[in-house]
Amino acid sequence: MSSESKETQTPAIAGADENVQDTPAAQTRPDSFSRRSFVGAAAMAGATLVSAAGAFGQTLQDREAGRTGDSASDPGPDNQALAAFNPDPNSPPFTDRGNPAPFWHSFNLSAKRLQGGGWTRQVTEREIGQSRDLAGVNMRLTAGTFRELHWHLANEWAIMLTGRARVSVMQPDGRMFIDDVEKGDLWYFPAGYPHSIQGLEGPGCEFLLVFDQGDFSEDDTFLLSEMMAHIPPDVIQKNMGWSRAEWDKLPQDALYIFPADLPGPLEDDKRFLGSRLETKNQYTFHGAMTMKPVAETAGGSACVIDSTIFPVSKNIATGIVTVKPGAIRELHWHPNGSEWQYWMQGKGRMTITYTEAKARTMDFNAGDVGFVPNMAAHYIENTGNQDLIFLEMFKTPQYQSISVNEWISLMPDKMAQAHLKLPVSTIRRVPGRQYTILPK
Ligand code: MN
Ligand code: MN
Repeated sequence: MSSESKETQTPAIAGADENVQDTPAAQTRPDSFSRRSFVGAAAMAGATLVSAAGAFGQTLQDREAGRTGDSASDPGPDNQALAAFNPDPNSPPFTDRGNPAPFWHSFNLSAKRLQGGGWTRQVTEREIGQSRDLAGVNMRLTAGTFRELHWHLANEWAIMLTGRARVSVMQPDGRMFIDDVEKGDLWYFPAGYPHSIQGLEGPGCEFLLVFDQGDFSEDDTFLLSEMMAHIPPDVIQKNMGWSRAEWDKLPQDALYIFPADLPGPLEDDKRFLGSRLETKNQYTFHGAMTMKPVAETAGGSACVIDSTIFPVSKNIATGIVTVKPGAIRELHWHPNGSEWQYWMQGKGRMTITYTEAKARTMDFNAGDVGFVPNMAAHYIENTGNQDLIFLEMFKTPQYQSISVNEWISLMPDKMAQAHLKLPVSTIRRVPGRQYTILPK
């Protein structure tokens, strides 16, 4: 920066002005009314700065200066515990702007349906209003406990978080798939296919279910018990061959979650199914937390599981991302769907930037759900001191993402310089390919 420019501009806009000075447009502009001289004169006269910040009437740099000291204090009532867990919305980065729709919720704030044998709670479109593609359910089953046999309108994807379960699903062709799953295993049940989940020996299990329907409700599924209880007994007799006395013994209310005896060995159940055991379609996916990553750097790793390697998962794709302390999942967006996140371990923050310069930063902890609107750019930074692990979920057959760094690296020099207003040598410091996770 020249000494002349130091004299004629306020420190608050030094950065912006320097950028303008470097552009070919600024150099060729008639000098009588350059932005620099106009802003400098206005500032000296004590007038309000007119800037590209538009409706907010301040440059980004003015807003950076304005967020310190008494301006940012909060002398009134304050939920300090919540503020401590979510510092960014309480003291937003100066780059945040406007008020994008909510994109944070936590399973810890959701109603818990607690029954003998376990519980369920959900984060859906009712909690995050703009999340119309996917909804999530978090469920616990003790050893032997069933999530009652059922089916529903949405496709169901799941990951086992802890413990083991036995799952079964029946196909329209009259064949049944059955398998045991443990921590890090997935399953996918197509809409309308009846299925079961039962906790196995030991401490039972806890898992996350994701449905490709934002307004899905775990209280709104077709249950075996409810169906049987509402068919006239004489029809049941014709259909099943069960007498009225036998009909009377059927459950009259939903079982939903209920304790039961532990099943026998998996091999026994497979032997029972015999030739009607489904072996071609694999509805479970083993080892999602220990598989070879598609990207691995000093900052972390990312695994992708979609229909290319888990063929039955036709409408839900997943990234499992590990970010080391201080590292970031690089700035990117997804061209083929909104992103529903489940935070499994650690803590971090995410900024979402949207059209009309809307931007907001939120903090996330294990058990939280995040949402990214379709195409909105975002990064995830690990702000804790242990590895951050989170799921990126999409209602799509195939995972896709666009890396901003990769895009910049592909811009020819003049194109890049015209937009970014930086010297080419600076622009070329950007990593030249999709790194996915950038180390601290
Ligand atoms: Mn289900
Ligand atoms: Mn993403």
